[in-house]
Amino acid sequence: MPSKMTHQTNMVEKRLNSLQCELKDYEQVMQLMNENMKKGLKEQPDISADLKMYITYVRSLPNGSEVGKFLALDLGGTNLRVLLLELIDGQVLLKSSIYSIAENTMIGPGKELFSHIAACIQQFVEREGLENEDLPMGFTFSFPCKQFGLKKSHLVNWTKGFKCDGVEGEDIVTLLHNAIAEQKLLVRCVAVINDTVGAMVACAHLDQDCQIGIILGTGTNACYMENTTKIEKWREDNTIRQHGEGVIINTEWGAFGNNGCLDFITTEYDKAVDQMSKNPGEQIYEKMISGMYLGEVARQVLVKLIQDGILFKGHLSNRLRTPMAFYTKYLSEIESEEEHELDNLKQVLDELHVMEYSLTDCVIVRRVCEAVSTRAAYLAAAGVAALLERVEKSFVTIAVDGSLYRYHPTFHSKMTDMIGQLLPHRKFRLKLSNDGSGIGAALVAAISTQMTIATLA
Ligand code: ADP
Ligand code: MG
Repeated sequence: MPSKMTHQTNMVEKRLNSLQCELKDYEQVMQLMNENMKKGLKEQPDISADLKMYITYVRSLPNGSEVGKFLALDLGGTNLRVLLLELIDGQVLLKSSIYSIAENTMIGPGKELFSHIAACIQQFVEREGLENEDLPMGFTFSFPCKQFGLKKSHLVNWTKGFKCDGVEGEDIVTLLHNAIAEQKLLVRCVAVINDTVGAMVACAHLDQDCQIGIILGTGTNACYMENTTKIEKWREDNTIRQHGEGVIINTEWGAFGNNGCLDFITTEYDKAVDQMSKNPGEQIYEKMISGMYLGEVARQVLVKLIQDGILFKGHLSNRLRTPMAFYTKYLSEIESEEEHELDNLKQVLDELHVMEYSLTDCVIVRRVCEAVSTRAAYLAAAGVAALLERVEKSFVTIAVDGSLYRYHPTFHSKMTDMIGQLLPHRKFRLKLSNDGSGIGAALVAAISTQMTIATLA
Protein backbone atom coordinates (compact mmCIF):
# COMPACT_ATOMS: atom_id res chain seq x y z
CA MET A 1 0.00 0.00 0.00
CA PRO A 2 1.53 3.35 -0.93
CA SER A 3 1.52 5.79 1.97
CA LYS A 4 -0.86 8.72 1.98
CA MET A 5 2.05 11.08 1.42
CA THR A 6 3.31 9.20 -1.68
CA HIS A 7 -0.17 9.14 -3.09
CA GLN A 8 -0.47 12.88 -2.49
CA THR A 9 2.96 13.54 -4.01
CA ASN A 10 2.12 11.45 -7.06
CA MET A 11 -1.08 13.37 -7.59
CA VAL A 12 0.80 16.65 -7.33
CA GLU A 13 3.42 15.53 -9.82
CA LYS A 14 0.65 14.53 -12.19
CA ARG A 15 -0.88 18.00 -11.91
CA LEU A 16 2.52 19.64 -12.47
CA ASN A 17 3.48 17.40 -15.35
CA SER A 18 2.19 19.70 -18.06
CA LEU A 19 4.31 22.58 -16.68
CA GLN A 20 7.50 20.55 -16.87
CA CYS A 21 8.82 20.72 -20.40
CA GLU A 22 11.85 18.86 -21.68
CA LEU A 23 15.00 20.24 -23.23
CA LYS A 24 13.72 19.37 -26.69
CA ASP A 25 10.63 21.53 -26.04
CA TYR A 26 12.82 24.52 -25.15
CA GLU A 27 14.91 23.83 -28.27
CA GLN A 28 11.73 24.01 -30.27
CA VAL A 29 10.71 27.26 -28.57
CA MET A 30 14.11 28.72 -29.47
CA GLN A 31 13.71 27.63 -33.07
CA LEU A 32 10.16 28.97 -33.33
CA MET A 33 11.29 32.26 -31.82
CA ASN A 34 14.00 32.52 -34.44
CA GLU A 35 11.57 31.75 -37.29
CA ASN A 36 9.10 34.33 -35.99
CA MET A 37 11.85 36.96 -35.70
CA LYS A 38 12.85 36.36 -39.32
CA LYS A 39 9.21 36.70 -40.41
CA GLY A 40 8.96 40.04 -38.60
CA LEU A 41 12.03 41.42 -40.41
CA LYS A 42 10.77 40.55 -43.90
CA GLU A 43 10.19 43.24 -46.50
CA GLN A 44 6.49 42.75 -46.14
CA PRO A 45 6.04 41.21 -42.73
CA ASP A 46 3.31 38.64 -42.68
CA ILE A 47 0.34 40.12 -40.85
CA SER A 48 0.33 36.96 -38.72
CA ALA A 49 3.98 37.44 -37.71
CA ASP A 50 3.76 37.54 -33.94
CA LEU A 51 7.06 39.30 -33.44
CA LYS A 52 6.71 42.78 -34.82
CA MET A 53 10.48 43.46 -34.76
CA TYR A 54 10.06 47.23 -34.68
CA ILE A 55 12.94 49.41 -35.84
CA THR A 56 13.74 51.76 -32.93
CA TYR A 57 15.92 54.29 -34.80
CA VAL A 58 18.50 53.99 -32.03
CA ARG A 59 21.66 53.41 -34.07
CA SER A 60 24.43 54.20 -31.68
CA LEU A 61 25.20 53.31 -28.12
CA PRO A 62 26.66 55.70 -25.56
CA ASN A 63 30.42 55.62 -25.08
CA GLY A 64 30.81 57.63 -21.90
CA SER A 65 31.65 60.93 -23.64
CA GLU A 66 28.11 62.36 -23.28
CA VAL A 67 27.71 65.50 -21.16
CA GLY A 68 24.83 67.66 -19.91
CA LYS A 69 21.55 67.51 -18.02
CA PHE A 70 18.73 65.34 -19.31
CA LEU A 71 15.30 64.36 -18.09
CA ALA A 72 13.69 60.98 -18.47
CA LEU A 73 10.19 59.61 -18.04
CA ASP A 74 9.55 55.94 -17.41
CA LEU A 75 6.07 54.53 -17.85
CA GLY A 76 6.50 50.80 -17.48
CA GLY A 77 3.24 49.37 -16.26
CA THR A 78 3.30 49.79 -12.51
CA ASN A 79 4.47 53.31 -11.79
CA LEU A 80 5.54 56.51 -13.46
CA ARG A 81 9.04 57.73 -12.76
CA VAL A 82 10.59 61.07 -13.56
CA LEU A 83 14.39 61.24 -13.57
CA LEU A 84 17.11 63.83 -13.91
CA LEU A 85 20.44 62.61 -15.20
CA GLU A 86 23.51 64.77 -15.05
CA LEU A 87 26.52 63.60 -17.04
CA ILE A 88 29.83 65.17 -16.09
CA ASP A 89 33.22 63.72 -17.07
CA GLY A 90 31.92 60.18 -17.45
CA GLN A 91 30.14 60.43 -14.09
CA VAL A 92 26.40 59.90 -13.79
CA LEU A 93 24.38 61.80 -11.17
CA LEU A 94 20.82 60.65 -10.83
CA LYS A 95 17.76 62.00 -9.08
CA SER A 96 14.31 60.51 -9.45
CA SER A 97 10.77 60.42 -8.11
CA ILE A 98 8.09 57.78 -8.34
CA TYR A 99 4.44 58.66 -8.94
CA SER A 100 1.60 56.19 -8.82
CA ILE A 101 -0.96 55.71 -11.56
CA ALA A 102 -4.45 55.15 -10.24
CA GLU A 103 -6.44 52.16 -11.57
CA ASN A 104 -8.98 54.64 -12.95
CA THR A 105 -6.32 56.54 -14.85
CA MET A 106 -5.04 53.28 -16.38
CA ILE A 107 -8.38 52.62 -18.00
CA GLY A 108 -9.74 56.19 -18.30
CA PRO A 109 -9.43 58.68 -21.19
CA GLY A 110 -5.92 59.02 -22.67
CA LYS A 111 -6.05 62.78 -22.18
CA GLU A 112 -6.24 62.30 -18.43
CA LEU A 113 -3.31 59.92 -18.43
CA PHE A 114 -1.11 62.42 -20.27
CA SER A 115 -2.29 65.34 -18.10
CA HIS A 116 -1.35 63.29 -15.07
CA ILE A 117 2.10 62.61 -16.58
CA ALA A 118 2.62 66.33 -17.31
CA ALA A 119 1.55 67.22 -13.77
CA CYS A 120 4.12 64.78 -12.39
CA ILE A 121 6.86 66.31 -14.58
CA GLN A 122 5.84 69.75 -13.32
CA GLN A 123 6.07 68.63 -9.69
CA PHE A 124 9.48 67.14 -10.34
CA VAL A 125 11.04 70.11 -12.15
CA GLU A 126 9.71 72.46 -9.48
CA ARG A 127 11.18 70.32 -6.75
CA GLU A 128 14.54 70.29 -8.53
CA GLY A 129 14.38 74.02 -9.34
CA LEU A 130 14.52 73.33 -13.08
CA GLU A 131 11.32 75.05 -14.17
CA ASN A 132 13.18 77.64 -16.23
CA GLU A 133 15.51 75.23 -18.01
CA ASP A 134 14.79 73.99 -21.50
CA LEU A 135 15.75 70.36 -20.94
CA PRO A 136 15.73 67.52 -23.49
CA MET A 137 13.80 64.52 -22.27
CA GLY A 138 13.81 60.85 -23.21
CA PHE A 139 10.57 58.94 -22.72
CA THR A 140 10.55 55.25 -21.91
CA PHE A 141 7.10 54.17 -22.97
CA SER A 142 6.97 50.42 -22.60
CA PHE A 143 4.06 49.37 -24.74
CA PRO A 144 4.13 48.03 -28.31
CA CYS A 145 4.80 51.02 -30.58
CA LYS A 146 5.46 51.36 -34.27
CA GLN A 147 8.19 53.93 -34.65
CA PHE A 148 8.63 56.28 -37.58
CA GLY A 149 11.61 58.12 -36.13
CA LEU A 150 13.28 58.60 -32.77
CA LYS A 151 10.51 60.97 -31.67
CA LYS A 152 7.61 59.66 -33.67
CA SER A 153 6.05 56.58 -32.21
CA HIS A 154 2.50 55.28 -32.52
CA LEU A 155 0.99 53.06 -29.85
CA VAL A 156 -0.18 49.86 -31.53
CA ASN A 157 -2.14 48.43 -28.62
CA TRP A 158 -2.21 48.72 -24.86
CA THR A 159 -0.94 45.81 -22.74
CA LYS A 160 -0.26 45.11 -19.04
CA GLY A 161 -3.68 46.23 -17.81
CA PHE A 162 -3.74 49.68 -19.48
CA LYS A 163 -6.70 50.56 -21.69
CA CYS A 164 -6.94 54.35 -22.14
CA ASP A 165 -9.22 55.63 -24.88
CA GLY A 166 -7.84 57.73 -27.70
CA VAL A 167 -4.22 56.59 -27.55
CA GLU A 168 -4.02 53.46 -29.70
CA GLY A 169 -2.86 54.44 -33.19
CA GLU A 170 -1.80 57.90 -31.99
CA ASP A 171 1.62 59.51 -31.75
CA ILE A 172 2.82 59.35 -28.14
CA VAL A 173 5.09 62.40 -28.43
CA THR A 174 2.27 64.58 -29.78
CA LEU A 175 -0.02 63.53 -26.92
CA LEU A 176 2.73 64.21 -24.41
CA HIS A 177 3.66 67.57 -25.96
CA ASN A 178 0.03 68.69 -25.92
CA ALA A 179 -0.21 67.91 -22.21
CA ILE A 180 3.16 69.58 -21.55
CA ALA A 181 2.02 72.69 -23.44
CA GLU A 182 -1.14 72.87 -21.32
CA GLN A 183 1.02 72.91 -18.19
CA LYS A 184 3.27 75.54 -19.83
CA LEU A 185 6.38 73.45 -19.21
CA LEU A 186 9.66 74.05 -21.05
CA VAL A 187 10.54 70.37 -21.32
CA ARG A 188 10.76 68.82 -24.79
CA CYS A 189 10.69 65.14 -25.60
CA VAL A 190 13.45 64.26 -28.07
CA ALA A 191 13.23 60.48 -28.04
CA VAL A 192 10.78 57.69 -27.27
CA ILE A 193 12.16 54.29 -26.46
CA ASN A 194 10.87 51.29 -24.62
CA ASP A 195 12.29 49.77 -21.46
CA THR A 196 14.24 47.03 -23.23
CA VAL A 197 16.14 49.64 -25.23
CA GLY A 198 16.64 51.63 -22.03
CA ALA A 199 18.09 48.63 -20.22
CA MET A 200 20.41 47.87 -23.12
CA VAL A 201 21.59 51.46 -23.64
CA ALA A 202 22.17 52.04 -19.92
CA CYS A 203 24.22 48.85 -19.68
CA ALA A 204 26.17 49.61 -22.89
CA HIS A 205 27.24 52.94 -21.37
CA LEU A 206 29.60 50.92 -19.15
CA ASP A 207 29.93 47.69 -21.10
CA GLN A 208 30.64 47.69 -24.84
CA ASP A 209 29.76 43.97 -25.12
CA CYS A 210 26.10 44.69 -24.38
CA GLN A 211 24.07 43.79 -27.48
CA ILE A 212 20.79 42.52 -26.00
CA GLY A 213 18.28 44.00 -23.55
CA ILE A 214 15.59 41.99 -21.77
CA ILE A 215 12.72 42.98 -19.49
CA LEU A 216 11.31 40.63 -16.89
CA GLY A 217 8.94 42.86 -14.94
CA THR A 218 5.20 43.42 -15.25
CA GLY A 219 5.59 42.22 -18.83
CA THR A 220 8.43 40.75 -20.83
CA ASN A 221 10.18 42.01 -23.94
CA ALA A 222 13.56 41.99 -25.65
CA CYS A 223 15.64 44.10 -28.00
CA TYR A 224 19.01 43.61 -29.69
CA MET A 225 21.44 45.27 -32.05
CA GLU A 226 20.69 43.99 -35.56
CA ASN A 227 22.75 44.47 -38.67
CA THR A 228 20.73 46.60 -41.12
CA THR A 229 21.73 44.26 -43.99
CA LYS A 230 19.55 41.61 -42.31
CA ILE A 231 16.52 43.88 -42.01
CA GLU A 232 14.64 43.28 -45.26
CA LYS A 233 11.99 45.85 -44.32
CA TRP A 234 14.59 48.65 -43.90
CA ARG A 235 13.32 51.64 -45.89
CA GLU A 236 15.60 54.32 -44.51
CA ASP A 237 18.85 55.67 -45.87
CA ASN A 238 20.44 52.88 -47.92
CA THR A 239 24.01 54.01 -47.23
CA ILE A 240 23.50 52.91 -43.63
CA ARG A 241 22.73 49.47 -44.96
CA GLN A 242 25.61 49.45 -47.39
CA HIS A 243 27.93 50.19 -44.51
CA GLY A 244 26.39 47.31 -42.60
CA GLU A 245 25.58 49.54 -39.64
CA GLY A 246 23.43 48.36 -36.78
CA VAL A 247 20.11 49.49 -35.36
CA ILE A 248 18.31 48.32 -32.26
CA ILE A 249 15.27 46.16 -33.01
CA ASN A 250 12.45 45.99 -30.47
CA THR A 251 11.16 42.43 -30.85
CA GLU A 252 7.93 42.79 -28.80
CA TRP A 253 8.40 39.11 -28.03
CA GLY A 254 5.62 39.12 -25.43
CA ALA A 255 3.22 38.45 -28.31
CA PHE A 256 5.09 35.27 -29.30
CA GLY A 257 2.59 32.42 -29.44
CA ASN A 258 -0.45 34.55 -30.33
CA ASN A 259 -0.64 32.59 -33.62
CA GLY A 260 -0.87 29.31 -31.71
CA CYS A 261 2.74 28.19 -32.23
CA LEU A 262 3.20 27.66 -28.49
CA ASP A 263 0.06 25.54 -28.12
CA PHE A 264 2.25 22.43 -27.80
CA ILE A 265 3.37 23.62 -24.36
CA THR A 266 0.49 25.73 -23.05
CA THR A 267 -1.41 24.15 -20.19
CA GLU A 268 -4.95 24.35 -18.84
CA TYR A 269 -3.59 26.85 -16.28
CA ASP A 270 -2.22 29.13 -19.02
CA LYS A 271 -5.56 28.98 -20.81
CA ALA A 272 -7.41 29.96 -17.65
CA VAL A 273 -5.04 32.90 -17.05
CA ASP A 274 -5.46 34.02 -20.65
CA GLN A 275 -9.26 33.79 -20.49
CA MET A 276 -9.53 35.95 -17.38
CA SER A 277 -7.06 38.56 -18.66
CA LYS A 278 -7.96 41.91 -20.22
CA ASN A 279 -6.48 40.77 -23.54
CA PRO A 280 -7.45 37.13 -24.22
CA GLY A 281 -5.51 35.49 -27.05
CA GLU A 282 -2.75 38.09 -26.87
CA GLN A 283 0.71 38.16 -25.26
CA ILE A 284 0.78 34.38 -24.85
CA TYR A 285 4.54 34.08 -24.16
CA GLU A 286 4.34 37.04 -21.75
CA LYS A 287 1.55 35.35 -19.82
CA MET A 288 3.78 32.30 -19.21
CA ILE A 289 6.74 34.39 -18.06
CA SER A 290 6.15 37.82 -16.60
CA GLY A 291 5.43 39.27 -13.18
CA MET A 292 1.89 40.28 -13.96
CA TYR A 293 0.86 36.66 -14.53
CA LEU A 294 3.16 34.14 -12.82
CA GLY A 295 1.43 34.34 -9.45
CA GLU A 296 -1.89 33.78 -11.17
CA VAL A 297 -0.56 30.72 -13.02
CA ALA A 298 0.51 29.33 -9.64
CA ARG A 299 -2.89 30.17 -8.13
CA GLN A 300 -4.63 28.28 -10.93
CA VAL A 301 -2.59 25.17 -10.10
CA LEU A 302 -3.20 25.53 -6.36
CA VAL A 303 -6.95 25.89 -6.87
CA LYS A 304 -7.00 22.70 -9.00
CA LEU A 305 -5.07 20.82 -6.30
CA ILE A 306 -7.52 22.02 -3.67
CA GLN A 307 -10.49 21.03 -5.82
CA ASP A 308 -8.88 17.60 -6.29
CA GLY A 309 -8.86 17.35 -2.49
CA ILE A 310 -5.05 16.99 -2.49
CA LEU A 311 -4.21 20.31 -0.84
CA PHE A 312 -5.50 21.96 2.37
CA LYS A 313 -7.91 19.04 2.81
CA GLY A 314 -9.87 20.43 -0.10
CA HIS A 315 -10.65 23.72 1.61
CA LEU A 316 -10.45 26.73 -0.71
CA SER A 317 -10.20 30.05 1.15
CA ASN A 318 -12.10 33.00 -0.25
CA ARG A 319 -8.88 34.88 -0.69
CA LEU A 320 -7.29 32.07 -2.72
CA ARG A 321 -10.46 31.88 -4.79
CA THR A 322 -9.91 35.49 -5.87
CA PRO A 323 -8.22 36.04 -9.25
CA MET A 324 -4.77 37.68 -9.01
CA ALA A 325 -4.68 37.24 -5.21
CA PHE A 326 -1.53 35.12 -5.34
CA TYR A 327 1.16 37.71 -6.03
CA THR A 328 4.25 36.92 -8.08
CA LYS A 329 6.38 38.21 -5.22
CA TYR A 330 5.07 35.26 -3.18
CA LEU A 331 7.03 32.96 -5.52
CA SER A 332 10.21 34.88 -4.68
CA GLU A 333 9.44 34.91 -0.97
CA ILE A 334 8.64 31.21 -0.77
CA GLU A 335 11.53 30.08 -2.97
CA SER A 336 14.13 32.26 -1.30
CA GLU A 337 14.09 30.43 2.02
CA GLU A 338 15.61 27.03 2.71
CA GLU A 339 13.11 24.22 2.26
CA HIS A 340 12.95 23.42 5.97
CA GLU A 341 12.43 27.06 6.95
CA LEU A 342 8.81 27.91 6.52
CA ASP A 343 8.61 31.48 7.80
CA ASN A 344 7.87 33.18 4.49
CA LEU A 345 5.60 30.40 3.34
CA LYS A 346 3.55 30.58 6.54
CA GLN A 347 3.34 34.34 6.15
CA VAL A 348 1.99 33.91 2.61
CA LEU A 349 -0.56 31.31 3.71
CA ASP A 350 -1.58 33.69 6.46
CA GLU A 351 -2.13 36.50 3.92
CA LEU A 352 -4.21 34.07 1.85
CA HIS A 353 -6.34 33.27 4.92
CA VAL A 354 -5.41 29.60 4.81
CA MET A 355 -5.97 28.60 8.43
CA GLU A 356 -5.17 24.92 8.50
CA TYR A 357 -2.34 23.21 6.71
CA SER A 358 0.09 20.33 7.13
CA LEU A 359 3.80 20.12 6.46
CA THR A 360 2.99 18.23 3.26
CA ASP A 361 0.75 21.11 2.17
CA CYS A 362 3.72 23.46 2.61
CA VAL A 363 5.94 21.20 0.52
CA ILE A 364 3.30 21.10 -2.20
CA VAL A 365 2.85 24.89 -2.33
CA ARG A 366 6.60 25.31 -2.73
CA ARG A 367 6.71 22.65 -5.49
CA VAL A 368 4.01 24.52 -7.39
CA CYS A 369 5.89 27.83 -7.12
CA GLU A 370 9.11 26.20 -8.30
CA ALA A 371 7.44 24.53 -11.26
CA VAL A 372 5.87 27.80 -12.42
CA SER A 373 8.96 29.98 -12.00
CA THR A 374 11.35 27.39 -13.46
CA ARG A 375 9.29 27.09 -16.62
CA ALA A 376 9.19 30.88 -16.89
CA ALA A 377 12.97 31.19 -16.53
CA TYR A 378 13.57 28.40 -19.08
CA LEU A 379 11.14 29.92 -21.57
CA ALA A 380 12.82 33.32 -21.24
CA ALA A 381 16.16 31.56 -21.71
CA ALA A 382 14.96 29.97 -24.94
CA GLY A 383 14.14 33.46 -26.24
CA VAL A 384 17.53 34.82 -25.22
CA ALA A 385 19.24 31.87 -26.93
CA ALA A 386 17.41 32.70 -30.17
CA LEU A 387 18.66 36.30 -29.94
CA LEU A 388 22.23 35.20 -29.18
CA GLU A 389 22.13 33.24 -32.43
CA ARG A 390 21.39 36.47 -34.31
CA VAL A 391 24.12 38.57 -32.73
CA GLU A 392 27.48 37.92 -34.36
CA LYS A 393 29.77 38.56 -31.44
CA SER A 394 31.94 36.07 -29.63
CA PHE A 395 30.96 37.41 -26.21
CA VAL A 396 27.68 39.11 -25.45
CA THR A 397 26.40 40.85 -22.34
CA ILE A 398 22.63 40.67 -21.96
CA ALA A 399 21.21 43.55 -19.91
CA VAL A 400 18.19 42.51 -17.85
CA ASP A 401 15.81 44.79 -15.99
CA GLY A 402 12.57 44.18 -14.11
CA SER A 403 11.51 43.20 -10.61
CA LEU A 404 10.91 39.54 -11.43
CA TYR A 405 14.54 39.02 -12.51
CA ARG A 406 15.84 41.31 -9.79
CA TYR A 407 14.09 39.71 -6.85
CA HIS A 408 13.41 36.10 -7.76
CA PRO A 409 16.12 33.99 -6.09
CA THR A 410 16.80 31.53 -8.92
CA PHE A 411 15.66 33.25 -12.12
CA HIS A 412 19.19 34.35 -13.03
CA SER A 413 20.82 30.98 -12.41
CA LYS A 414 18.06 29.00 -14.13
CA MET A 415 18.18 31.24 -17.20
CA THR A 416 21.96 30.99 -17.34
CA ASP A 417 21.75 27.23 -17.00
CA MET A 418 19.17 26.78 -19.78
CA ILE A 419 20.92 29.15 -22.23
CA GLY A 420 24.08 27.11 -21.59
CA GLN A 421 22.22 23.88 -22.38
CA LEU A 422 20.70 25.32 -25.54
CA LEU A 423 23.93 26.92 -26.81
CA PRO A 424 26.84 25.07 -25.20
CA HIS A 425 29.46 26.95 -27.18
CA ARG A 426 28.28 30.53 -26.76
CA LYS A 427 29.88 32.90 -24.29
CA PHE A 428 27.52 35.32 -22.59
CA ARG A 429 26.51 36.81 -19.30
CA LEU A 430 23.21 38.10 -17.95
CA LYS A 431 23.66 41.36 -16.10
CA LEU A 432 21.17 43.35 -14.05
CA SER A 433 20.70 46.73 -15.67
CA ASN A 434 20.16 48.91 -12.65
CA ASP A 435 17.56 51.54 -13.32
CA GLY A 436 18.04 50.93 -17.04
CA SER A 437 14.66 52.05 -18.28
CA GLY A 438 15.14 55.48 -16.71
CA ILE A 439 18.84 56.09 -17.32
CA GLY A 440 18.62 54.63 -20.83
CA ALA A 441 16.02 57.18 -21.94
CA ALA A 442 18.13 60.06 -20.67
CA LEU A 443 21.19 58.60 -22.43
CA VAL A 444 19.31 58.27 -25.72
CA ALA A 445 18.21 61.90 -25.29
CA ALA A 446 21.89 62.77 -24.76
CA ILE A 447 23.12 60.86 -27.81
CA SER A 448 20.38 62.24 -30.03
CA THR A 449 20.84 65.89 -29.03
CA GLN A 450 24.61 65.56 -29.28
CA MET A 451 24.25 63.98 -32.70
CA THR A 452 22.11 66.93 -33.71
CA ILE A 453 24.70 69.39 -32.47
CA ALA A 454 27.43 67.46 -34.30
CA THR A 455 25.39 67.41 -37.50
CA LEU A 456 24.67 71.13 -37.32
CA ALA A 457 28.31 72.03 -36.63
P1 ADP B 1 7.47 47.51 -14.61
O1 ADP B 1 7.67 46.28 -15.42
O2 ADP B 1 6.07 47.91 -14.55
O3 ADP B 1 8.40 48.60 -15.01
P2 ADP B 1 8.75 46.17 -12.38
O4 ADP B 1 9.99 45.85 -13.12
O5 ADP B 1 8.93 46.66 -10.98
O6 ADP B 1 7.82 47.19 -13.08
O7 ADP B 1 7.89 44.84 -12.34
C1 ADP B 1 6.68 44.75 -11.64
C2 ADP B 1 6.26 43.31 -11.61
O8 ADP B 1 7.21 42.56 -10.88
C3 ADP B 1 4.92 43.08 -10.97
O9 ADP B 1 4.12 42.36 -11.89
C4 ADP B 1 5.18 42.21 -9.76
O10 ADP B 1 4.30 41.12 -9.70
C5 ADP B 1 6.57 41.67 -9.99
N1 ADP B 1 7.31 41.65 -8.75
C6 ADP B 1 7.41 42.65 -7.81
N2 ADP B 1 8.16 42.24 -6.78
C7 ADP B 1 8.56 40.98 -7.07
C8 ADP B 1 9.34 40.01 -6.38
N3 ADP B 1 9.85 40.23 -5.18
N4 ADP B 1 9.53 38.83 -7.00
C9 ADP B 1 8.99 38.56 -8.20
N5 ADP B 1 8.23 39.42 -8.86
C10 ADP B 1 8.01 40.61 -8.32
MG1 MG C 1 10.19 49.00 -15.69
